[in-house]
Amino acid sequence: MRLTLFFIIMILFPACKGAAQEQAMTNNHKNNPYYSRTDTAHLKVANSEWKKILPADLYAVAREQATERAFTGRYWDSDTRGTYYCAVCGNTLFKSDAKFASSCGWPSFFEAIRPNSVVYREDNSYGMHRTEVLCGRCASHLGHIFDDGPPPTYKRFCMNSVSLDFEPDPGSK
Ligand code: FE
Repeated sequence: MRLTLFFIIMILFPACKGAAQEQAMTNNHKNNPYYSRTDTAHLKVANSEWKKILPADLYAVAREQATERAFTGRYWDSDTRGTYYCAVCGNTLFKSDAKFASSCGWPSFFEAIRPNSVVYREDNSYGMHRTEVLCGRCASHLGHIFDDGPPPTYKRFCMNSVSLDFEPDPGSK
């Protein structure tokens, strides 16, 4: 009897934990009907609509190409294992395995989780020639990509923390 109870708890515990995580995620995005970590359909939502939904700091970066100040974001020096998602739409973007310690002050990755997780656009603003990185699902601005990253790709995805949501792997903190 005691053994049966033990097995029931063992089976239910991960399910409860998963439900709790799902609930926490939903709470963070409860005003955002477009946020999903499973729906991969492309989103075409007007900025006037995003402005009503997103927090001001996220809207400024994601939809108006603003950049958060270096060394101020939540993830620039985080090395917790887990997965990074688009903070606007929930699209899966990066694994912590591809994150590296960069001195630039923004979270930096050498590759996206899938080639089509992100899309690229030429950016000639501020008298510079750069390549902008956008979310492959909702086309929100994430940051820029540079050619000074580490092997194996030698790329540096220089991202804004505010554009990212992070989910630690089970047991990581
Ligand atoms: Fe997105």
